[in-house]
Order: sequence, then C-alpha cells, then structure tokens
Amino acid sequence: AGGLRHVPDWLRRQAELQPGGLAIVAGRERWTFARLDERVATLTAHLARIGVEPGQRVAVLAGNGLPYVILVHALIRVRAILVPLNVRLAPAELAWQIRDAGARWLIHDDDQAEHAAAVLAALEAFAAQDHGVTGDAAAPPQPLSLSRLLAAAGDLASTGPAAPQAAPAPPSPPSLSPASPSSALPSPPPPIDLAAPHCIIYTSGTTGRPKGAVLTYGNHFWSAVASALNLGLHRDDRWLCCLPLFHVSGLSIVFRSVIYGIPMVLHPRFDPAAVNASIERDRVTVISVVATMLQRMLDERGPRPYPEHLRCVLLGGGPAPRPLLEACAARSIPVVQTYGMTETASQFATLAPADALRKLGSAGKPLFFNELRIVDDDGRPVPPGEVGEIVVRGPTVTPGYHNRPDATARAWRDGWFHTGDLGYVDEDGYLYVADRRDDLIISGGENVYPAEIESVLLAHPAVEEAGVVGVPDPEWGQVPVAVVRLRSPARWEGEACGGERIAGHEGASGRQGQPGRPKGPGDEATGGSATGPDQKGAAGRASLEEALLRFCAERLARYKVPRRVLFTTEPLPRTASGKLQRHRLRRTLDRLHRPEP
Ligand code: ATP
Ligand code: MG
Repeated sequence: AGGLRHVPDWLRRQAELQPGGLAIVAGRERWTFARLDERVATLTAHLARIGVEPGQRVAVLAGNGLPYVILVHALIRVRAILVPLNVRLAPAELAWQIRDAGARWLIHDDDQAEHAAAVLAALEAFAAQDHGVTGDAAAPPQPLSLSRLLAAAGDLASTGPAAPQAAPAPPSPPSLSPASPSSALPSPPPPIDLAAPHCIIYTSGTTGRPKGAVLTYGNHFWSAVASALNLGLHRDDRWLCCLPLFHVSGLSIVFRSVIYGIPMVLHPRFDPAAVNASIERDRVTVISVVATMLQRMLDERGPRPYPEHLRCVLLGGGPAPRPLLEACAARSIPVVQTYGMTETASQFATLAPADALRKLGSAGKPLFFNELRIVDDDGRPVPPGEVGEIVVRGPTVTPGYHNRPDATARAWRDGWFHTGDLGYVDEDGYLYVADRRDDLIISGGENVYPAEIESVLLAHPAVEEAGVVGVPDPEWGQVPVAVVRLRSPARWEGEACGGERIAGHEGASGRQGQPGRPKGPGDEATGGSATGPDQKGAAGRASLEEALLRFCAERLARYKVPRRVLFTTEPLPRTASGKLQRHRLRRTLDRLHRPEP
C-alpha cells in the first residue's frame, strides 16, 4: 500500500494540542476545541445509540450554525456518510437527491422542519409512482430533528451512564493510535482512513441534473493542506464562513479549522453588513466569497478601507468579473481568485497572493499536490495560450459520482478528470478559465465564450444581469444572443456610459415594468411611476439595444458582439446558489424571441 493512509481524528487532535484554543465563533457563541470535542463526543454516542451505523448515508437539511458543525464532526466519528442538502432546493429536487444517495436518515434543523416534511411527502409520492421497487434504496429516510438530537445527547452526557462506544472502530495502526494524554477526554475516536468516503455532495446543477460527487477524507485533508501551502498559515488566522455549509466551499472551512487549529467565524447566512462588521470585530484574516457577495460587501462598505488583518479574500465559485477585480485592486483589497468545483473538494488552482495584481483575472496555478492540463478534443495537450478542456488530477479530486458510472467514466479518462470547463494556461503556467465546454458558441469557425460577453455587458451601468447563449444562424452556424435585465434607472441614470448616455431607457423600463430590486428610496419612487403600457416602449428598447451593442462593439471583436440584445424584467434562470443556467436561458430566449407584433 504505502503512503499515508490513516490520520488521527482531526478535532480530537486539536482538543489535545490546544484544548483552550478557539474553534468556532458563531454569533455570541465562542467555543474552544475542547468544548467542541466534548459536545461532538456526546452526539456521537447518541447517534450510535439510536442506530446510525458506519457507511449509512445521512442527509442533512440545515442552515449554517454551530449545530451543523457539531453534526459534521459526529458523523465523522460514527463513520456515516454525510449528504448535505441545499436548503434552497424544492422538495421534489431534494427527494430525488435523497433517493439517489439512498439516505437512511434525514436530519433537519428547526427552520427546515416544514421543508423536511414536504421532502418526505415528495418521497412518498415518488414511492407511490414506482410499484415494484423494493429494498433499502426505496425506503424513505427516518427524519430526525437536530435540536432534539443535541438535547438528547446532552441529557445522556449529564445523567452520566457509561456512554456507549462510538462506532465499531477499525483497529488503529500502532504508530498512530492517539495516546490520550488527558483522562478528561472521552475514549479515543477511531483514526481517519483517508481513502474512505466522507460525503456525497450534489453539484450545483448548472448544466443539468445535479450529480452526487463522492469526496473522501483524503480529498478534504489534502485540500486543506494544499490551501495552507499556498496562502500560508498564520497563528492568528480566522476564516470567515458565510458560504453555506451544504456546499463544499463552506464545508471545507470546517476541515481547515480543525486541521489548521484556527477558529472559523461562522455566519448563519450572507449579509453584507454583518460580514463587513464581523471582519473587523472578529479579527477575520481570511474569507471565502463568490463574486456577487464580494460586490455587495463593497457596495455596503463604501470607500472605507478594510482592516489590515484581512489578508486574503478567496474568490471562487464562478467567473470573476474583471471590473470587480480591478475595483478591489484599486482599493487594495487582497483578492485571490480560485478555480475549483465540488468534485475537487473546493479550490483546485488558486492565485498566490503575491501574483494577485500581476496576473489579474487568472485563477493561478494548481495547488501543491495537483496537476492540470489543457487538452484538445482528442485528449492531447495543447500549447500555452491555446484554449482547451481543463483536465485535472491529484489527491483532492473525487473518485467518482455516486450511482453514475456513466458520468464517472465520461469524466475520468486516461487518468485525468475532465472538468467540462474550457480554459488556457499562459507561458508562465497560470490558468485562465474561459467557460463551460457545453456553452461554447462557434460562430463562423471562431470560438465565442458567453462568459466574456456577459462580463462586458455587466460592466455597463444599466445592466443588472446578463446571459448569453448561441442560436443557430444560416450564415455563421451560430451567433451569440444576449438576454439582459436592467437595473433600476436611478442607479445608473446620468452615469457615463462609455462616453454617452443611453437614450430611451425610460421607455424601455416603462414598457416592461420596473426592473431590478429597489436600491433606495429614490429608486422606489421611480419604480412606482413606471407601470402600465408605454407608447415609447418598443422604440426605447430598440435604442437601448443599440447602445448596448455599441458598448460591446467598442470592447469585443466583431464576431463576439451579440446579434441581438433582448430585455427581460424577470430574473435570469439561476441555480439555488445563483449560477446562471444557460440551458434554461435558452428557453427564456425562445419566449422572448417571438416576432414583434
Ligand atoms: P453542475 O456540475 O451540476 O453543472 P456546477 O458545475 O456549477 O454544477 P459546482 O461544482 O458548484 O457545480 O461549480 C463548479 C464550476 O464552477 C466549475 O466547473 C466552473 O465551471 C465554475 N467555476 C469555478 N471557479 C471558477 C472560476 N474561477 N472561473 C470560472 N468558472 C469557475
Ligand atoms: Mg460541474
């Protein structure tokens, strides 16, 4: 076998090394590693007592909070497989994931009690549909309330009878058996087998039905280690988590906290004002965000600089708009872009902080243990500067998808995991992500990346949201067409728009009702006046379209300029985590593309 296979339980190790060290800050709660470990031990015992067994899939439907973190660690000690569920998904979507994962238990927090009930109802409806399906996989999961579990576990601990042994533990390899130095600590948890599956996390469903990516303990472990080798590890580090724990982006912070021995500052949800205040109050040094979050933080903060101790803003999850990166650079906000996915247990490549400015727009180099290649359709590496599919390998990459041998085989080919993303590396080996392979538009033989056009449109002050897809064209094969949702006019009226003002916007917004979310009292007033049919609508829209096309033409090669810009007042189709779903946008476009009356 060879290589490192077992490591001691991460949390217990920190509880031994620095019992008084701060593990987590959540609201007014501040827990040390020792306290967290104690609580996890009682919950572990309770879970084992009620029959949660190693290898069983445990679906968790809960928002961010201390209980979620305690549960994550307890499930590790029980050796159950975590299936984190996205609370924003509809009951039928969650029911599908629960069945796909074959979850035996459904643990929910109080806020999600009704949602969980709806999911169980949806599961029953499913079961009624398929007669003849029997056996474990079809059995509905047993629902459990997280707060009640924790309360019962607490009672168990305080009434004092010998807590049942956690889980049937594999014998620890002699060199690693954690000798317990403190008699106060409960019996040693089994060591962690890095090759064992830890969780099944469903992908965001941006390109279709979500796939359950299996992540091993090793995937998380090497991801945490590799991130520290890139960003460095400071004794006073504190990592703020305002991303959901049901995503790998949030969950990975739980592991970094216990592997590094640093506190995580956990927020129940993303609130720009709360996050900005917490950075200062809680002396946050690192924060993980996606682009929309960062933009809202900047909007909320205004021109005030961020404190010096904030040393890294890790920006990932999707394309980073260039204007946002430039705005951050101008304000000395230490943003580093990262590229990764559920299947790579979060970051795969990340820009080193020292390169942040020199390589603006790049997602950096693969983290220490990782390798990356850009290949053509036949899997042959292409030279620097040339776009191809990003394929990856390394200890942070998933062994495969649960229940999806087809998808696993499509992704894992020739020893490389095919990401489905397009990109290139420059002469120095820095990665630039272009777009999703399936969304590539080929127009007159030229490659057109929707994301590039979208980011140009988004740089226009009138544009709140933009999506671009290819439509068939007799002459060029395909041409890009944009769908745009406008901002509320007060936000951009009078601002310079590439040297000109947009004419006719009143007509456009009047015709369509008030677009965008209100940004302030002034906007609402404007919004109120802009209802009802407007005679100038079509004309205004046409000139607005012209202005946006001109804006694109000034910034993009001719073949990339959208053939048309269509307007919608409805939010563009997005995943529960806010990613644009271009396959659904195509349907929106069909609706909008009806001939003018
Ligand atoms: P699904 O796989 O179900 O379609 P998804 O790919 O959106 O959904 P995630 O694993 O949450 O699910 O997202 C990973 C994807 O996000 C990457 O494959 C890539 O397309 C995109 N992404 C991540 N980081 C970046 C980045 N720095 N620049 C551009 N795109 C990025
Ligand atoms: Mg994906």
